[in-house]
Amino acid sequence: MQTQLADFIRDTPEGREAEGILRKCVHCGFCTATCPTYQVLGDDLDSPRGRIYLMKRALEGAPVTDKTRLHLDRCLTCRACETTCPSGVRYGRLVDIGRAVVEAKTQRGPLERARRALLAWGLPRPRLFAAALRLGQLARPLIKVPPRARPAGEWPAPRHRRKMLVLAGCVQGALAPSINAAAARVLDRAGISLIEARTKDAKAAGCCGGIRFHLNYQEEGRDDMRALIDAWWPAVESGEVEAIVITASGCGVTVKEYGHLLEQDPQYRDKAARISSITRDLCEVITPEMISEGSKQSTVAFQSPCTLQHGQQLRGRVEALLAKAGYELTAVDDAHLCCGSAGTYSLLQPAISAELRGRKLAALEAGRPAAIATANIGCLAHLQGATATPVRHWIELIDVK
Ligand code: SF4
Ligand code: SF4
Repeated sequence: MQTQLADFIRDTPEGREAEGILRKCVHCGFCTATCPTYQVLGDDLDSPRGRIYLMKRALEGAPVTDKTRLHLDRCLTCRACETTCPSGVRYGRLVDIGRAVVEAKTQRGPLERARRALLAWGLPRPRLFAAALRLGQLARPLIKVPPRARPAGEWPAPRHRRKMLVLAGCVQGALAPSINAAAARVLDRAGISLIEARTKDAKAAGCCGGIRFHLNYQEEGRDDMRALIDAWWPAVESGEVEAIVITASGCGVTVKEYGHLLEQDPQYRDKAARISSITRDLCEVITPEMISEGSKQSTVAFQSPCTLQHGQQLRGRVEALLAKAGYELTAVDDAHLCCGSAGTYSLLQPAISAELRGRKLAALEAGRPAAIATANIGCLAHLQGATATPVRHWIELIDVK
């Protein structure tokens, strides 16, 4: 696609990157077929092709309106369009650039600004989130919040020569502490000790930066990334750990992009690239050989999060691990489509999110599974909020005796 970027962005790193991406798009529209928001809303401006056109216009200096921002806000950043696109258009990178430009050129209403600011301030603080969740749980069922978390169980003391760091995360510790503990137990049995890094003030190293970055507080998100790099760096630099393991695919896709997101920061560029290069989703670390052969004898539907299958392009691995453990996987239609969780999307676009969740649960429950497995805490909490079928992280199903 021919582009003439405006002076304000043409000679910047973002401008050069956006131009390269826009030139690849041939406007064929193949991506519309797999876009969840296009399927729900049926408006071309709520499809990848329509949004690419809106961003192109904005970057060329055309007037930007609240309507432009609305269509970008409605995008889940699920990146199903990237998986579909035959021309290799990196939509996820483009939308980061486009959103920043559109945000700077428009003004949200005071209520919306306050809501987004509150989310950006509160969610990345694990202790605050845990306290707010406990308060909310006292008022259940009047307030719709997740129930009390299951106990984490034992976390084996580090005893192996092989060690890996694991991300504590911002909301996962409060919602499901059992996930990282289960990962630690399974890896311990395979001869790998999993350790959580601490920040200087002894808090578990928390948010990956994805929440604030995707709320368009991009610099604040980068601050979270730098803080996490600082917490991890001593163990990485000394060679104490061989990898960083992420049990939430939403965080994993962000950490794997640190090298790109911090490449303009001379102080952190190299560290960020190193961190990204040793970051692995849990399903890249656990191999079928680590799992004892099939004793589970139960049915499971796997919901592959967008951040796993599209963002990290990891498909089929979790399914193979569950099958090795003896689970029978039920068929799931339209497995490429988002469940509507998408970080803070379920809070900011509740109607579209609820519609997508309803469709996803219908597909997941069609085969009457005993449980639903997922790989991301956001999807887990979102889906569990509307079904009585237990929703678990897949590692909890592997860990269970
Ligand atoms: S993003 Fe890819 S699939 Fe979509 S219109 Fe452009 S070239 Fe076609
Ligand atoms: S990221 Fe997802 S919601 Fe956004 S345009 Fe692409 S397919 Fe549609």
